[in-house]
Parts: sequence; structure tokens; C-alpha cells
Amino acid sequence: MKCPFCGAPDTKVIDSRPSDDDLKIRRRRECVECAKRFTTYEAIETTPLILVKKNGEREAFDREKVLRSMLKACEKRPVSAEQLSMICDRVEKNLQNRLEKEISTEIVGELVMDELRQIDKVAYIRFASVYRDFRDIETFMEAIQKLRDE
Ligand SMILES: [Zn+2]
Repeated sequence: MKCPFCGAPDTKVIDSRPSDDDLKIRRRRECVECAKRFTTYEAIETTPLILVKKNGEREAFDREKVLRSMLKACEKRPVSAEQLSMICDRVEKNLQNRLEKEISTEIVGELVMDELRQIDKVAYIRFASVYRDFRDIETFMEAIQKLRDE
């Protein structure tokens, strides 16, 4: 980290400890050029993911909601809670690695569908029928056909 006094590019950390609230790390640094000392704080980035619904409404991304919708699709299917939890982890990680912090529900749905398709076709079709809002038998058949083509 650059020295704020002389602009030298190198400073060394001489002390590092958690701040009072334990949410930040306080570091005491010393410039290798001018030997002046200063303090920096390191904090975890906690920007929440925002979900944008079809109607434009926004809400905080809720992992539990995703899990519940998958549970419904996986009812009486040979899919374990652990598998679903792992899907949630992967989906969440994927979303967090994106630059944009506003995510459309469509993206979340597509990610979940990709995962379900690989572990259980029936659960996938059930989930897709809710998510894609199949209104008629044709769209439903299209989804089935796509599965067959794979
Ligand atoms: Zn300096």
C-alpha cells in the first residue's frame, strides 16, 4: 500500500489486529522510505445481492427461497438435501462472482435449471414449468423434447 505521506509504493505491516467489533482488521503500517506510520482497515465486502423480479420489484437475494423452490420440485425424487444445498452454494457463488449486484430472477432460474437438469429430469421439468410459467402443452412438450435431444 502506497505511503500517504511521501507516496512511496512500499509500506510494511507492523501490527495487525481485529477492531473492536471484530468485523474489520486494523493494520498499523510503516513506510519503508520515510518511516512514518499510518493505519488501514480491512473489511469484508458485504454488498448484498439484489434480485430483480419480472415486474421490476427488487428484493434481497434469499438462498432459503431458492432452496424451498427446489425442494418443491424435488418432492418424492431421489435428490438429497445435501445435493440441493450444494446447488445453492454453486448458484450463490456464481451470482457473487458477477460484477453486477442486481440479478434478474431469470438468471437465478436458469442457473438452478441447469443444475437440476443434470441430477434429475423430473425435478427439472417441474421446476421449469413453474419458472418458465408453461401456459400450454406446447411449451411443456418443447421442454421435454429439448431434454430428449440432449
Ligand atoms: Zn513514506
